Amino acid sequence: MRRLTSAAVLVLAIGCSKPAPPPTPPVGPAEEQIAAESLVQHLKVLASDEFEGRAPATPGGEKTADYLAKQLSALGVEPGAPDGTYLQQVPIVESVVERNFVLSVPGNTYKYFTDVVAFSGVEKPRVQVQGDVVFVGYGINAPELKWNDYEGANVRGRWVMIMVNDPPAPVDEPTLFAGNALTYYGRWTYKFEEAARQGAAGALLIHTDQSATYPWQVVQSSWSGTQYSLPPQAGEPALGIKGWITDAAAKDLAQRGGRNLDTMRAAASKRGFKAIALSTRAAATLMQRSARKTAANVIGVIKGTNPAQGVIYSAHWDHFGIRDAQPGDAKDADRIFNGAYDNASGTAAVLEIAKAFVKAPQRPARSIYFAFVTAEESGLLGSAFLAANPPLPIDQVVANINIDGVNYLGSTTDMVQLGAERSSLGPMVEAILKERNRTLTGDTHPERGYFFRSDHFSFAKLGVPAISLSEPKQFTGANAAELLKKQEAYNDKDYHQPGDQYDASWDFTGGVNDMRVLAQLGWRIAQQADQPKYHAGDQFAEVRKK
Ligand SMILES: [Zn+2]
Repeated sequence: MRRLTSAAVLVLAIGCSKPAPPPTPPVGPAEEQIAAESLVQHLKVLASDEFEGRAPATPGGEKTADYLAKQLSALGVEPGAPDGTYLQQVPIVESVVERNFVLSVPGNTYKYFTDVVAFSGVEKPRVQVQGDVVFVGYGINAPELKWNDYEGANVRGRWVMIMVNDPPAPVDEPTLFAGNALTYYGRWTYKFEEAARQGAAGALLIHTDQSATYPWQVVQSSWSGTQYSLPPQAGEPALGIKGWITDAAAKDLAQRGGRNLDTMRAAASKRGFKAIALSTRAAATLMQRSARKTAANVIGVIKGTNPAQGVIYSAHWDHFGIRDAQPGDAKDADRIFNGAYDNASGTAAVLEIAKAFVKAPQRPARSIYFAFVTAEESGLLGSAFLAANPPLPIDQVVANINIDGVNYLGSTTDMVQLGAERSSLGPMVEAILKERNRTLTGDTHPERGYFFRSDHFSFAKLGVPAISLSEPKQFTGANAAELLKKQEAYNDKDYHQPGDQYDASWDFTGGVNDMRVLAQLGWRIAQQADQPKYHAGDQFAEVRKK
C-alpha cells in the first residue's frame, strides 16, 4: 500500500468519493447445487431391482411415480399437474391382435406375420375394413412445400397403400424434404395420422429394407404382440386397421389391381403425382383383446413472476419392466430392465435441475415445469398426453428441454442436442457453451430421424420449440478413444437390455456440466422477452402460427 503511485492514490480517492454500488447477487439457477453425488443417489434408487424395471402400470412403475412426487415435494417444488396435484394419470390402451388376421383380395390372401402385420386405431374387439384400394405414393400433405399426394383422391372409407420415408429431393430442388435428412413426413407415424385425417378406413405401409431402414423382422417384432396407445380422443379421426405389408405382397396386390408397383412408385417420387385407384378391393377382419391401464406423469412447477407462460423440462421415467423367462435362460439370468442410463439418469438429472431452481436467489420470470413422463418406451404416450393436456395452454409453453440419457463417461468439450438446428434454442445453448469453452453439435445423423423418437417430439409436433440431449463425442483426457468405444459397446450390448445397470465406475463430471448448461438455458428462456421460435421453413414453424 505504501508503494502506491500518486496516480493510484488519485484513483482510490475518486473511488472513495463515489462509492461503487453493492455487488449484484448472482442471478440465475444455483448451478453449484447440481452434483454427481446426489444425481447418483437418485439414479441408484430408480435403477435398483426393487423398482422392477419401471414399467408403466406395474408396482415398480407406481413406486417410481411415488418416489418422484416425494422428491419434488421434499425439494419444495409445487405440484404442477393440471389438477393441482403432482400426478397426471395417463390412460393407456393395451391391445393384442389375434394372429388369425388375413388380408384378402379377390384371388389371394396375405397372411399375418409372413405378409402383413396389422393393429388397430380403435378400441373395439372386432374391426372390419373392406373397400377399394388407393395407392397414395408417399401419403404426404405438406402445404408449405406445395406437395399433396391426396389431392383430388377419394379415400374416404377405403384402403390406402403408402410408401414410407420422404420423396427423394429432385436435382432442381435439392432441399425439398430437407434433402438427405428425414422429415416428419417420412415417419411411419405421420403416414397413419395423415391417412386418418383424410378419412381412410385402413392404411398399409409398404415395407422395403431401404425405405424403412430396417428389415421385415423388425416390423414383425415391433408391431405384433402387445401394443400400447392412448385412447383416441372424441372427434379425432382414427384408422380401423393400420398395417405394414411386405414389398412382395404389395407388388402382388398392385398387380391384381391392374398396376405395376414399381411404375407407380417412380411416378410418386415426382411433383404432380396423382393418387391411383386400383381396380381391386381388399377386406380384413381384425380381432383383438384390449384393456385399459393407467400410469402417471409426475409434474412439479416453480411458479414464475409471469406464471402465464412456462418452460417444461422433461425426462421419461419408464422402462421395460421385467422380461419373461425364456427357455434356455440360466437359472439366475438377470431379467430386470433396470434402465440406469435410459432413463434413470435423465430422471435424476431433472431432479437436480429442479434443485438448482429451488435454491436460486430469485424466482424466474416464466414458470419452470419439471415433467417426469411415462410410457415413452411404448410410443411417447405420457408426453403426448401431457402435450395434449398441458398445465398451461400449449401456445404458452415456450420451450421444452428433454433429457433422455446423461453422459456417464467423463467430461467432454462438445454437447449434442437433437433439434438445435431447428429453432432459436440452438444459438441460445451454443452461447452458453461458448462461455464455458465448449461447443455445440446438432443431430449427427439427421437421416435416422432421432428427433422424432423421444418425448421432446410430442411438444415439437404441437409447435413448441424443443431440444433433446444426445450422446457427446469429444471426450477430454488421454483415454478419449477408449471412452468412445465404451459408448459404442453400451449401444451394441446394453441399450434396451437388462445390462443397462448402474456401475460404480460411472463418471458424471461431464453429465453434471451438461445439467448446469441446461439449467442456465431454462433460466435464460424464462427471462428473455421473446419466446424461442422455430426457424422459418422448419416443419414445426407453421404449427404455432396457426
Ligand atoms: Zn429413453
